Amino acid sequence: MACIRKRAPKATSAAVRRVMRENVGRETHPERKLRSLLFRSGLRFRKDYSPVPKERVTVDILFPRQGICIFVDGCFWHGCPLHFEVPKTHSSWWQEKIEDNRQRDARQTRLLRALGWSVIRVWEHEIKEDSISSKVREIKEVVQQMAPRDGRKRRGHR
Ligand SMILES: [Zn+2]
Repeated sequence: MACIRKRAPKATSAAVRRVMRENVGRETHPERKLRSLLFRSGLRFRKDYSPVPKERVTVDILFPRQGICIFVDGCFWHGCPLHFEVPKTHSSWWQEKIEDNRQRDARQTRLLRALGWSVIRVWEHEIKEDSISSKVREIKEVVQQMAPRDGRKRRGHR
C-alpha cells in the first residue's frame, strides 16, 4: 500500500491528466443541474458549504435549518459500485486513489451523522436525464418533512 502511494507523482503524467479531465466534466454537470432544479422547485440551500469548518467537510447542497447535508458523488471519483472502472494506465495508483476517496466519504458521513446531521449521498447516475426529476421530488419531500431546527444550526443562516 505505502509503496503504491509513493508512486503518486505519476499523477502528473499525460495519461493520468487526461483521465482526470474527462471525469471532472462528467461529475460537475449533473450536480449543477440538480441544484438548479431544486432551486426552481422552491427550495433554498447553501452550496459548497461546511457545517463543521474545522473538519474541512464541504457539503455540496446544505439545508442548515433542516439539518440536511446532500453530497453529489461522481461515479468515477467516488468509486460507484456500478460504474467505476479502473483506468488502464496506472491502474494500481488509481485503485488506491479512489479507495482513499471512498473511505474519506464514509468518514465524513459518519462524522456529520455523529453531529446530528442527516446525510444524503446521491450518485451522479441517479441524476441523469431520466431519473433527475424523481430525485428532486424525493429530496424535496425529505426537506419538507424535516422541521426547521432552532438553535445553533439556524445561527448565521440569514
Ligand atoms: Zn454510477
